[in-house]
Amino acid sequence: MPVYLDHAATTAVYPHVAEAMAQQQRLVGNPSSLHTAGRAARRVIEESRERLAGALGARPSEVIFTSGGTESDNLSIAGIFRARRDADPRRSRIVVSAVEHHAVLDCVEALAARDGATVTWVPCEATGEVTASAVREAIELDPASVALVTVMWANNEVGAVNDVPAIAEVTQAHGIPLHVDAVQAVGHLPVDMSTCGADAVSISAHKVGGPVGAGALLLRRDREVVPLVYGGGQERQVRSGTLDTVGALGMSLAVEYAVTHLAREADRLAALRDSTIEGAMALDRGIIAGGVWKPSDVTHRLPGNAHLLVPGCDGDSLLYLLDAAGVEVSTGSACQAGVPQPSHVLLAMGLAERAARGALRVTFGHTSVASDVDAFLAALPAAVDRARRAAGTT
Ligand code: PLP
Repeated sequence: MPVYLDHAATTAVYPHVAEAMAQQQRLVGNPSSLHTAGRAARRVIEESRERLAGALGARPSEVIFTSGGTESDNLSIAGIFRARRDADPRRSRIVVSAVEHHAVLDCVEALAARDGATVTWVPCEATGEVTASAVREAIELDPASVALVTVMWANNEVGAVNDVPAIAEVTQAHGIPLHVDAVQAVGHLPVDMSTCGADAVSISAHKVGGPVGAGALLLRRDREVVPLVYGGGQERQVRSGTLDTVGALGMSLAVEYAVTHLAREADRLAALRDSTIEGAMALDRGIIAGGVWKPSDVTHRLPGNAHLLVPGCDGDSLLYLLDAAGVEVSTGSACQAGVPQPSHVLLAMGLAERAARGALRVTFGHTSVASDVDAFLAALPAAVDRARRAAGTT
């Protein structure tokens, strides 16, 4: 069996969640139907809504079920942007951090290209963190023009965690809505809708031990959103489409379980992360940790994220060599049209393009064990030496 160290991309469904989903899958019933089968499905939806809300400090009425993180990000950003601009045409500016996931970046860029949005990119620190003062500076260029602010809770590449309540204090002072992409944070960091100060929070099930294709937008009741798709208006008239009973159930059980076991699991994952980083740095190949890292810190860096910068290598070559050795990791950034691109996150952190190309992201999850770290560290030196020979840097 290969060693899977790419839990930030997707993680295994918890066995008890898979079992509950399999049972639900056998039943028929559209939650909008009025007969007995429909009402039974509706009950599962509403119990799932309550379970999810309870785990994340939200009210059940704030939960909008979606098809995942990408849809939640798009619905929230495009929807709030359009509603705010419709109410006041001066509000055409989106303030967005430079290190967002493509589900946010590309949505913002599409709004700029097609809907006349202007964009202010908020720079990050060398650690990958986005500060409240950087957000304040961007807003204060012209507060009346801002439609919304969108900043992620935790970065999917380098694991940097942002101080969402501090950022929300800034946006609230200006009466500007804040959207937070919490896809990587939920289940790994305490996420509480009632205290974080955000208007909208995107989450995704498959990063937390739930199914792919299920997500939610936690949306304050008073926040207006123009829908992306039109139809039956199932979710507060904001999101249409027959509700996915199995997905909502699986997501709610997974999030509840992850949140219940968060504190212990965070310490366990941080220990795996730390031994990975320490072990890689001890290999005498000039490897350093990307982003903000202090051993056993579970506040400023995602507990399960080890990001390594390997000089003189292409991360993609390393990825393939490690894969051939039975260890599955990621570079953290996407290929575009089959061509590996240096990560926009690392470039925003101030790394040179050459250094950014040697990125390797190793991420842990609920199935990870200490022997996974041993396997990775055993395979890494030969992979680095070979990747360097391929790159002509030895
Ligand atoms: N936002 C972040 C930070 C992510 O890491 C991801 C997935 O990689 C997404 C959004 C997209 O979520 P989904 O895969 O559920 O569409």
